[in-house]
Amino acid sequence: MKYHGYAGQILYIDLTGESIRKEPLDLDLIKNFIGGMGINSKLAFDLIKPGTDPLSPENVICYGAGPFVGTLIPGFSRSGIISKSPLTGLLGESQTGVSIGPMLKYAGYDHVVITGRAEKPVYIAIDDDNVTIKDATRIWGKEIGESTNEIRDELGDFWVSCIGPAGERLVRFANIIENKNGMIGRVGLGAVMGSKNLKAIAVRGTKGITVFQRGKFLKLVKELRGKVAASPLVDMWRNEGKIIEPYEGAYMKRGVYVTKNFSKGIPEGVDEYFTQKEYAERIWKNYYACVSCPAGDKGVLSIKGGKYDGLTFKVSNPWGTPITFNQAGIRNWDDGVKCVNMTNRFGIDAFTTAIMIGFANEIYQKGIISKEDTGGLKLNWSAEAAFKLIEQITRREGIGDILAEGIKIASQKIGKGAEKYAVHVKGLEPTMDLRPEHFIENFGQLVDPRGAHHARGYSITYIPRKGKSARSYAPSIGVPEDRIDVIAPESEADTNNWSKSRLLKWVNDYNSMSFSCGMCMRIQIAPQYSLDIIKDLFYATTGIEMNSSDLLRAGERIWNIQRLFNVREGASRKDDMPPYRMLNDPLVVGDKKFPPLKEADINELLDEYYDESGWDKDTGKPTMKTLDNLNLENEGELVLNR
Ligand code: SF4
Repeated sequence: MKYHGYAGQILYIDLTGESIRKEPLDLDLIKNFIGGMGINSKLAFDLIKPGTDPLSPENVICYGAGPFVGTLIPGFSRSGIISKSPLTGLLGESQTGVSIGPMLKYAGYDHVVITGRAEKPVYIAIDDDNVTIKDATRIWGKEIGESTNEIRDELGDFWVSCIGPAGERLVRFANIIENKNGMIGRVGLGAVMGSKNLKAIAVRGTKGITVFQRGKFLKLVKELRGKVAASPLVDMWRNEGKIIEPYEGAYMKRGVYVTKNFSKGIPEGVDEYFTQKEYAERIWKNYYACVSCPAGDKGVLSIKGGKYDGLTFKVSNPWGTPITFNQAGIRNWDDGVKCVNMTNRFGIDAFTTAIMIGFANEIYQKGIISKEDTGGLKLNWSAEAAFKLIEQITRREGIGDILAEGIKIASQKIGKGAEKYAVHVKGLEPTMDLRPEHFIENFGQLVDPRGAHHARGYSITYIPRKGKSARSYAPSIGVPEDRIDVIAPESEADTNNWSKSRLLKWVNDYNSMSFSCGMCMRIQIAPQYSLDIIKDLFYATTGIEMNSSDLLRAGERIWNIQRLFNVREGASRKDDMPPYRMLNDPLVVGDKKFPPLKEADINELLDEYYDESGWDKDTGKPTMKTLDNLNLENEGELVLNR
């Protein structure tokens, strides 16, 4: 059966046996898991055996693009990859808007599932129906840009998803990079590709995607494009870093964004070091967009003057990613941009790399490692040390070989108390501190299946909100009225005293559904949508009848099967606790001092979250009753009754 919005097929490629097969996409799979991240999650749950070594041939890589990807719906170009993460040992999921997803669908595939290990370096070429496994020996070892160019020289105008030298050397936070600048980041999926001797996937599709109700679809798209384009936030995000002070600066002042391996705040950051004025004058050059997005807030950076004059490249978050390197002690645009350029070329995650460098500097300064461990390299928070460590991590040389293991394993290997300075949840470092305040997005880092990531906690509390904001927002994502009265009672309408942890459960469900359709979480896009709008778009695009509660339940099912994947790998409530440093060290931010988190406070938030989710409070596992309600009883039996 041909579906509108979907290509209608899953492509299976086994690299060990060099076998290729295609299967139709099942309607039940769509109704239960939507597509993209959701169907990827179900495929990963079914195909990755418990206890699989993430870097073994038995691990499975699932590419997937949801039903809105490749259409004209604004801001719905995100697609991604799921596998078992070599960084966390749990479910590893990542997405990008500059993805090969649209092209995969035009070639006829919603998902590509890759198993096994090739005998020698290969890449996969998908040219509509023609799928081949090609020799990649001559590009093995080359950087992202060069590898992508050489594949295009050989094949023509293909979209390319590719690893660099870091993925080949199994750096546990190696990225896959799509079309030279779309990061499949954070959880080491580049190393999984490297472990399979798989350098790249190149794809060209010419079949297009049909929609079910063309007139209604175009009317909805026109309205949404108008809403996105009219948002004043578009100009702020798109041009000259105008967002730096109101966004990055505000977070630094609140102590949510911190520096030097989470050791202290940097409230002066955008006033003194990373100023918008210098960014606009010397660093930013232009903007570009993901497919079908009128916001176009990604950036072309081109340094004018100074030691890196002329350094030019594209970055997804052009100001935030260089500033991230303040965690490694870097406090100027030039060196931050240089670090990002290196990580992008080598195919390693910029954020994790910054943290690893910060961690190494701090434990060196505390005497836990010495010059003997670093091969004579002095770790003094300098840019020179950072550049050297980026190269050593990529090549797994010297101390870089240990740091390439990621924060959890590296700190355990180093020992001597290094674990106390390893700031992570489930092996992944948080982007936001929790010591100054708790809100939905930073609390969400504790329960996210991929570790300390905030994306699926995205909602309304990046800016502090009163109960009345929660009450008006909650219906738009499908929270039932009786739950709204528990989460944010009328009596708390004018206070901040309402339950962020309970609302997070509904945010997780809604975002799991909308991300599986392909939605971008940035503030120019996500607030323009609601459950009702997505329901209308879903029918106009696919012709498949799913009402609002069907869609939200699918989101809940996706979130729960991801949790079950992790439970099957041994994760439980203890893995949802904040890092040691946040529970033990105070945080100084300018003239303010925030105490360490209290375990009792976090436990209370987790209790509320599990209760709202229908998860067991003692273990953090979904209960059989919850799984039955989601038609996940078979999966529950497999995991909970083992
Ligand atoms: S808002 Fe930015 S990141 Fe999101 S889809 Fe548009 S261009 Fe891409």
